[in-house]
Amino acid sequence: MISLQEARRIITDSLAPLPAVNLPLAEALGSALAAPVLADAWYPSGDRATMDGYVIRSGQETGEFTVVGELQAGSIPGQPLAEGQAIRIFTGALVPEGGGMVIPQEMAERSGDTVKIPIFPELRFIRAKGSEAQPGAIILPSGSRLGPAELAMLAQVGAVHPSVVRRPVVRHIATGGEIVPPDQTPPEGKIRDTNTTLLHALLGQQGVSSVSSSHCADDPAALADLCAGPCDLLLISGGASVGDYDFGAEALRRCGFTIHFNKVNLRPGKPLTFATKGSQAAFVIPGNPVSHFVCFHVTIRLALELMSGIAPSWSFLDVELSDGTILKTDPRETFWPARVEPADGALTVSPLRWSTSGDTFSLAGTNALLQVNESSPSGNRVKTLLLAAPF
Ligand code: AMP
Ligand code: MG
Repeated sequence: MISLQEARRIITDSLAPLPAVNLPLAEALGSALAAPVLADAWYPSGDRATMDGYVIRSGQETGEFTVVGELQAGSIPGQPLAEGQAIRIFTGALVPEGGGMVIPQEMAERSGDTVKIPIFPELRFIRAKGSEAQPGAIILPSGSRLGPAELAMLAQVGAVHPSVVRRPVVRHIATGGEIVPPDQTPPEGKIRDTNTTLLHALLGQQGVSSVSSSHCADDPAALADLCAGPCDLLLISGGASVGDYDFGAEALRRCGFTIHFNKVNLRPGKPLTFATKGSQAAFVIPGNPVSHFVCFHVTIRLALELMSGIAPSWSFLDVELSDGTILKTDPRETFWPARVEPADGALTVSPLRWSTSGDTFSLAGTNALLQVNESSPSGNRVKTLLLAAPF
């Protein structure tokens, strides 16, 4: 049985970013740039006012000026500013030739065509031409992940179809004769399929929306047929273990996949299988929903990040356990569902009730996983993988 660290290394060595595609900005949230984005012009394109007020020449001696015109954002300045003149100007407007500083209107006293400035400000209140970016400057390097701020930058430079690493197309197969869709009342002995909903939501949180799901009885030939469908990432729920009806790995082999590992020293989620075929990756995930949740965050997310050209996120916070909590060390690498909350300006973490990995109800409110293993310190701090902002 391999360690989780070894499993993550194998996944990392086996997967590469998918080819680049051009996406409209509205579909690019969460993707990684496949090429740098350059500024197409000067930003700002000229000196611009940063306040509503009056623009004057710099180095003026007198405090009284004649207002000779008005400049709104978007208008083109006319004649240069002469000594003793001021032009009414609004935020974002281009500063006329000769304009050296903008006096905010709060610091000016207007009376008819005259404006008086009792005290000159120390700041110029002008964004200088090219002070933010010059033509050809790299504003975002290749590999940058596109969040709201980065998308706004692309919009600003007119890069409306950026070249990004294609997000994986995911195919999901829920296996098991005991599974019925969640909108049905399960007959005696059967259960509702919770993993399909769970995986769609987990994938959606990672910005992966191209997901198709199907159901398969525990039949290796039928499962192999389904596995042959086109996709970048194949996720099989259930059938991961060594029971008589666990056919996940066998179906993948029949389909031409190479199995890299089928057991990891991980709790929950030990019978996890990882396989590849060319650029395709596949996981067979132990059927219990808590195992799905943990396997997703500690392995499948890594595969998604690698295929998407995104720098893998795997950083732990050292968080104080909530009052009275004692965690035992564990020979298995255990990831315990937990909730991190801010308390008195710091974070504390409480492990959630978790009895068996089939207990979906115990996942309510989870925003972190506690890492407990042989070398976990016995003190009141614990290594915590934060999954979402703690509020
Ligand atoms: P398996 O990995 O197929 O042996 O399944 C382990 C446990 O997870 C069994 O109790 C299954 O009934 C349960 N299970 C498998 N698939 C699902 C699913 N899609 N939704 C909820 N529970 C499941
Ligand atoms: Mg099963």
